[in-house]
Amino acid sequence: MPPQQPEPPDRLSQLRGDRPPQPYSARKITALTANPTCSRRAVLDASGVDKTALAQRMGYEPRFGQSPFAIAREEAFKAFVKWGAYAELIRLLREELGVPVEEAKLQDLTDVGGITTIAARERETRSLIGAIVAGDQDRLILQNPVLTLEVAGQLAYLEPDALTHRIDGKFHVVAIRSFPAIDGQANPTAVAQTAQQAAVHVLALRRAFAAAGLDAEQIANTFLLICPKDFSNRPYLRQIDLRQELDALAFQLTRLSRAENLVRDLPHAATLDIDRDPGELLESVGRLPASYVPDCLSFCEMARYCRDEADTQASPARLGSAVRNDLPGIDSTSTALAYLDRLLPQGEEAAETIELLLAAERLHRLRRGDVA
Ligand code: SF4
Repeated sequence: MPPQQPEPPDRLSQLRGDRPPQPYSARKITALTANPTCSRRAVLDASGVDKTALAQRMGYEPRFGQSPFAIAREEAFKAFVKWGAYAELIRLLREELGVPVEEAKLQDLTDVGGITTIAARERETRSLIGAIVAGDQDRLILQNPVLTLEVAGQLAYLEPDALTHRIDGKFHVVAIRSFPAIDGQANPTAVAQTAQQAAVHVLALRRAFAAAGLDAEQIANTFLLICPKDFSNRPYLRQIDLRQELDALAFQLTRLSRAENLVRDLPHAATLDIDRDPGELLESVGRLPASYVPDCLSFCEMARYCRDEADTQASPARLGSAVRNDLPGIDSTSTALAYLDRLLPQGEEAAETIELLLAAERLHRLRRGDVA
């Protein structure tokens, strides 16, 4: 069950309209940090807009996302791993990692004495972690804990599958996925994506420790991946290093702008409310600066719209981030071609870029033997 999302600040909520906000998730945050200079994505995520529904309303069918079949399979596998108070996970901890598990001490944080609000669950998670670190409590597994992380100036509530703290005395994030490990090898892309998502949870755990004045050394830089073994439903466990993902994520988060600053200059009539007219949505979304790169097609629901927009504007980014980065100050490929054809005077603006462009053209012609 996705965590309930507290209301974002007023202007962002107002832009979204009456529909309930879509929560942040580790998957969403990894997509957001894959293109941290994109204000459009930052605003859409912070306002809790359903980007799939928005893209559809604007006439663009998102091309990716988990199929209902994949979601159902993952839910079924998670239920199997959690069955019997995590009997299978406990077996794996014992057999694969030599964890001395005598009894399953499980704390389900799905509700706190009947209270299911996300804030209450987060408080309880923090309090339990503090008690475990102090040695006042002992739990083998914290099921459905809630952690927080600041993303683009918003507080994101996140829900890892589980936490455990008995491996080398350190807290480990547990990620349960339904892609199989065949002969000990899982799909590298799926593993890499899971690692990026686990890094979001580890970073949120670090922030919780820091806020409570606890020693972050007690958090592992690895996570536990649980997935089906071979062609069976039997779980397989692998411990995966996360140091690279953690460094990359921490850096990318610092590059995000605060969402409320990004909407400050929008006109009052702007809207992201998917119940409004598509024309109004196209107008408003178009006012949010985007930073399209072809990779967007693999992670963002808005990609087809942004690609069309980049085509219309002849944006250099349409050819990839390398071309965009090579042409700072030049906002369209038509402008770049006009400079090369000497149709535009070379002014002070973007002078360095134009010099490099002309030098690259000279080099290209030399190589082709067009000039002596
Ligand atoms: S598809 Fe559009 S909104 Fe999404 S990250 Fe790319 S540029 Fe931003």
